[in-house]
Amino acid sequence: MTDPRRLPAVHSVLEDPDAEHALQRWGRERFASQVGAVLSELREQIQSGATLEAGPLEAASVAKEAAARLQLLGARRQIPVINATGVIVHTNLGRSVLSSSARRAVAEVSGSYTTLELDRPTGQRGSRQGLVHDLLCHLSGAEAALVVNNNAAAVLLALSVLARGREVVISRGQLVEIGGSFRIPDVMRESGARLVEVGTTNRTHLDDYRRAVGPNTALLMEVHPSNYRITGFTAQVAGEDLVSLGGQLGVPVILDLGSGVMEHLPGSDEPRVSDVVAVGYDLVAFSGDKALGGPQAGIMLGRGELMDQLRAHPLMRAIRPDKLQLAALEATLVHYLVPGEAAREIPTLRMLGTGSAELQQRASRLAAAIASLVPQRMSVSVEPVDSRVGGGAAPERYLDSYAVMLDAAGRESALATALRLGSPAVVARVAGGRLILDPRTMLPGEDEQVVEAFRALTLR
Ligand SMILES: *Cc1c(COP(=O)(O)O)cnc(C)c1O
Repeated sequence: MTDPRRLPAVHSVLEDPDAEHALQRWGRERFASQVGAVLSELREQIQSGATLEAGPLEAASVAKEAAARLQLLGARRQIPVINATGVIVHTNLGRSVLSSSARRAVAEVSGSYTTLELDRPTGQRGSRQGLVHDLLCHLSGAEAALVVNNNAAAVLLALSVLARGREVVISRGQLVEIGGSFRIPDVMRESGARLVEVGTTNRTHLDDYRRAVGPNTALLMEVHPSNYRITGFTAQVAGEDLVSLGGQLGVPVILDLGSGVMEHLPGSDEPRVSDVVAVGYDLVAFSGDKALGGPQAGIMLGRGELMDQLRAHPLMRAIRPDKLQLAALEATLVHYLVPGEAAREIPTLRMLGTGSAELQQRASRLAAAIASLVPQRMSVSVEPVDSRVGGGAAPERYLDSYAVMLDAAGRESALATALRLGSPAVVARVAGGRLILDPRTMLPGEDEQVVEAFRALTLR
C-alpha cells in the first residue's frame, strides 16, 4: 500500500509551474477546488489498498489532471452532427432542423428584447399566446389555440384541468408508451384523472365507450398509436363516431394526435391537422417538432371555452413556451400560409419529399468518394434501403431510399464510433455487419462534409 502522506498538499500543487496557466484561466478558487477533488480521489484509492506509481502523485501531475478536468467541463457538449441515419424525426438528435427563416427569427429574438408580451399600440401587457394564436386557428380551422412546452405537457395540462378526480375513458389499444417514459397511464395518474380502459388490445367498439360512460366521466380520449401498429383482426372506433357519441352523452372528446401534419405528406395517408380539427374534437394536441418541422412545443387546438379553462390553470405558467420556441414556431407556421413554401423551406418536409432517384444519385457520388478513402478490403456499395420518419411520427411508414453500404470487415462499429467522435461528427447506422449512410437526412452541403469526415479518419 502507498503511504497517503506522499500526496502533495493543495498549496504545493498550486505553486507548481504546471499550475500557472490553469490558475490564470480558471481562477484560484475553482482550480484549487478541482485540485482538492483530484487529491481526495487519490487518497481514497490509496486507503482502499491501491499501490500507486509515484508519477500521478507528483504535484505537476495533479495540476495537469485538475486542469484537464476543468477543460473538459468547459467543453461544448451539444454540437451539430450530421444525421446519416435516415431517421428524419430523430429524437436523440434533436428531432427537427429549423427552416432558415425560423433560425433567423430565433437568432434575432435571442439577441434583443422583444414584443413577447407587449401590446405595441397600447403599451400594455400583451399575451405571448397571441403571437401564434391566429396563425394556428387560420391554418387549422380551430376556434382557439394554446401552445405549451411540449406535447407531453399539453396532455398533462388537458387531463389535469378537465379530468382531475374524474374518469377518462380510453381504448386498451391506445395505452401508448412514447420513448422517454411518457406513458399514457402514468400521465393520467399524475394528472389526478382515473383511467377507464375499454375494449381489448386489438378491438374496441363504440359500445365499449358508451357502456363505460357514467356520471363521473370527464372525457373520452383518443391517442394516436404513434410508434406501433396493431394489425390483423382489429377494430378501433373512428374519430367521427367517438365525437358523435361524446356529443350525445355530453362528454368532451380529446385527441392526442402525437405528430400532427399540416400538409399532406408525400406518399402518406396521415390526415392533416385541419382534417382532424374538422372532425369536431373538443381538443387536439400534437408536437411542434415532429412532422410540423418546428421547435419543441405542444400545440393544442379546440373549443374556445375549453382553451380558456386551460389558459387560466396554474400549471400553464409552469409549462409555457419561451420566446425562442415561439419565434421558431411563428416562423415555421408562416411557411404553411404560402402553397409549396413549407415543403420547400422546412427541412423535415424537404427530407420527407426527396425522391429516390435523387437519393440514388447522391449515394452513388458519396460511395465513389468514400471508396477512394477507405482501405481496399472495405467494400463500398449503394443499395436500396428504407428510411424512417421516426419520432413516433409514422411507425409503419418507410421511405424508399438509397444508402451507402460500407462493409468494414468487422470494424463497422469502430468506424461508426470514429465518425461520431470525428469532426464534423457523423452519426451513421450499423446493421447486418455494415455501416450505412443514408443521404435522405443529410442537409445541403453535408454530403461533402461526410467525405471530409472520412478523409480525416486514419483507417488501417
Ligand atoms: C410524441 C408524442 C407525445 C409526446 O410529445 P412531445 O412533444 O415529445 O412531448 C405524446 N403523445 C403522442 C401520441 C406522441 O406521439
